[in-house]
Amino acid sequence: MTSSHTFTVKTQGFNDTHDLTPRVEEIVRNAKISNGIVTVFVPGSTAGITTIEFESGAVEDLKKAIERLAPQNMQYDHDRRWGDGNGFAHVRAALLGPSLTVPVTNGELKLGTWQQIVLIDFDNRPRNREVTIQIIGE
Ligand code: ZN
Repeated sequence: MTSSHTFTVKTQGFNDTHDLTPRVEEIVRNAKISNGIVTVFVPGSTAGITTIEFESGAVEDLKKAIERLAPQNMQYDHDRRWGDGNGFAHVRAALLGPSLTVPVTNGELKLGTWQQIVLIDFDNRPRNREVTIQIIGE
């Protein structure tokens, strides 16, 4: 069985980080599969999906690491070409990647206890992000 689902997340940009785990768990539960995979994907080139322990210390540490990797106060060729000022956001999103696949076993996401699925919005303005969930399983 295959099924697709979407939901919207309102974000503030600038590394705004949202825990998607409860919504993904609910969608997987309603899909009533016992074994398979679920892919979580965000369309767009200035946001990313990963997992982290969703507590303020770890989330802050990741934001600081991202700032060191692709600082906001640097010159980006993208900004010279487009003038939209979010060159740092495109680089950050490319490094993190737009999707994640999680195995489902016995009807449950195979996540660690301290491992949550997060959406990080890197853009330089608030956005409405439409997250796509694709489930394959039986
Ligand atoms: Zn741009």
